Amino acid sequence: MSQPTSNSAAGITWDLGDLYHGADDAAIEKHLAASLKRAKAFEKKYRGKIKTLKPTQAKTLLGALVEQEQLFEQMDRPAVFAGLLHAGKTDDPRHGALLARTQEARTAINKHLIFFDLEWVELPQAIAKKVIAHPSLKKYRHWLEQKRVWKPYYLSEPEEKLLDAKALTGKSAFGRLFEETTASMTCPFTHNGATDELSVQEILAKLYDADRSVRKAAAEGLSVGLQKQSRLLTFIFNTVVSDHRTDCDLRSYPNVMASRNLANEIGSDVVEALMKATEKHYPLVQRYYRLKGKLLGIDKLYDYDRYAPLSGEMPKCDWPTARSTVQESYEAFSPMAGEVIRTFFEKNWIDAELRPGKRGGAFSSSAVPSAHPYILMNFTERLRDVMTLAHELGHGLHQYLSRGQGYLQCDTPLTTAEMASVFGEMLTFRRMQERYPEPKQRLAMLCGKIEDAFATVFRQVVLTRFEQSLHAARQKQGELSTNAINAIWMKANQAMFGDVVEFTPGYSTWWSYIGHFIRSPFYCYAYSFGELLVLALFQKYKRDGDAFVPKYLELLSSGGSDAPHLLLAKLGVDVTDPKFWELGLKLLGEMVAEAEKLATA
Ligand SMILES: [Zn+2]
Repeated sequence: MSQPTSNSAAGITWDLGDLYHGADDAAIEKHLAASLKRAKAFEKKYRGKIKTLKPTQAKTLLGALVEQEQLFEQMDRPAVFAGLLHAGKTDDPRHGALLARTQEARTAINKHLIFFDLEWVELPQAIAKKVIAHPSLKKYRHWLEQKRVWKPYYLSEPEEKLLDAKALTGKSAFGRLFEETTASMTCPFTHNGATDELSVQEILAKLYDADRSVRKAAAEGLSVGLQKQSRLLTFIFNTVVSDHRTDCDLRSYPNVMASRNLANEIGSDVVEALMKATEKHYPLVQRYYRLKGKLLGIDKLYDYDRYAPLSGEMPKCDWPTARSTVQESYEAFSPMAGEVIRTFFEKNWIDAELRPGKRGGAFSSSAVPSAHPYILMNFTERLRDVMTLAHELGHGLHQYLSRGQGYLQCDTPLTTAEMASVFGEMLTFRRMQERYPEPKQRLAMLCGKIEDAFATVFRQVVLTRFEQSLHAARQKQGELSTNAINAIWMKANQAMFGDVVEFTPGYSTWWSYIGHFIRSPFYCYAYSFGELLVLALFQKYKRDGDAFVPKYLELLSSGGSDAPHLLLAKLGVDVTDPKFWELGLKLLGEMVAEAEKLATA
C-alpha cells in the first residue's frame, strides 16, 4: 500500500468564530434582519436631505456617515462570513446556499441605501466643497471627494437599483460558476505509466518540480484539463467581457479600463507609462531565461521549464519552518509588525491546509473592521509557498493596521493594496537568503526572487495587454471562439519571451483558469505597480534604516484615507513621474547581472 501523502499544514485551518459559529448560526439572520430595518429607517430619515444640504449642515451629513458605516458593517458581516466559508469548501451545498442567501439579503438592504451616493454627487459642487471643508467631516474628507469623481458615470436611482439586482444573476453568477468550475475540475497527470486526476492547484504546483518529465506531464495534464472545460470557460469569458462592455456603455466610460483606473485613483497616463516602461525591458526577461537555460543545461527552454527550480537540492519547507521564517522576518523589521503577524498564527486566522473543494490560490480578506482579516492559502511545502505566506500576511498586516480608518476608508485602491504584500515578501526573501548561505542555494534563491519579481512586474503587464486585446476583440468581432482567444494569449506572451521560450500547443489555453480576468477586470497592472513601487521603497529602507520603519507603518495605517500618490509623497516617492518606474526596473537588471556573475563563479 502506498503511503498517504502527509502535509505539514494539515489541520492548519481558520477559526471563523469571531464572525459566526457555523452556517446555521441564528445571529446571521438576526443581523440581516436588523440591517434591513436600519436601512429602511436610514432611507426615511435622509432621503431628499442629502442633495439639498446647506453649507451649514455638515453635522447632518456626519450623522448619516456614522450610521452608514455601522450599518455596512452589520450588513457585510454575514456575506463576508459566507464568502469565507464557501472559499474554504466550495463543494458543500450549504455554503453555496448561504452565500447566495447573504448576497441576496445584501442587495435587498442596499436598495435602501443607493440613494445616498446618488444624492451626494447630485449636490452642487460649490456647496459640497463647503460642506466637506467643515472640521467635523475631516475623517471622511477623502471618501466624500472620491465619491464625487464618479458623478459623470452614475445612472438614475431606478437604473442603479435594477443593475444592482440583476448583477446577482449576471456577473456574480458567472463569477461563481467560474470559481466552482476551476475549483472542482480535474486534470490527468500521467507519469511513470500511472495517471492521477489532480486539481488545478495540485497540477500547477508540479510545474515547479525539479524533474523535467514531471513538469512536462503537468503541463500536458493541465492543457488537457482546460481543453475539457474550454467550451464552458470560453463562454464565461465571453459573457463577463461582454457584461463589462455593457457597463461601460451604459455609464459612458471613455474606455474599458476607465472604471478600474478611477477606482485605483490613478491617471490612465500613469498606467500607460508604467506598462510602456516595463515592456521596454522585455529583453531583460529574455536575457534571464537564456541564463536559466544554461544553468539547467537545457538547449531549448519550453513553457514548462519556466518555473523549474535551479538547484535540485533546494529543500522542501514544512509549515513550522515557513511560519517561523515569516514571523522572524516581520519581527526584525518592526516588533510591532511582528506582534500583529504572531496574532494571525496564534489565533488561527489562517487556513493553509490542502482540502478537496477548497478554493485555489491565496488571499487575505479584510473581513469587517470590527473583526480582523482572514487568510486563505494552499500550502504545498515549496519554498515559494513561504513567499506566498509572507505576501498574504503583508496584506493582513495592512488590513489590520488600517481598521482604525473605519469601514468607508480602511481599504486602499488596488495599486497600493499590493504594496505591503510585496514589501513583506522582500523582508522574508532577505531572511531566507540568510537561512540558505551556500552559494548554489544562494543563486537558486536569487533566481527564485527574480522569477517572482518577473511574474509580478512583467507577466502582469502581459496579462493586462492580453485583457486589453481580449476586450477590444470581443467588441469588434462579437463572441470569440476558444481559438481566437488562444491567439490573443499567445501574442501577448510571445512579446515578452521572444524566441527564448518555446510554447507547447496546449499552452494557448492557459488564460482560461486565471480568475482575475473574471473577478476583477484589469486588476493585474496593480501588481506591477506594487512591485516596482516596493523595489523603490526597499531601497529607501536599506538606505534610511530604522528611520524608515515608523513612516512606513503610518502609511499602512492610513489605509485609503487619501489618494495613494499623496500618501506616498510623505515617504518622498513620486509615482506620477514617468521616470519613477525605471528605478525598480534598473534594480531588477542588477539582480539579473548578479545572477549571471554568481553563475560563472
Ligand atoms: Zn496580493
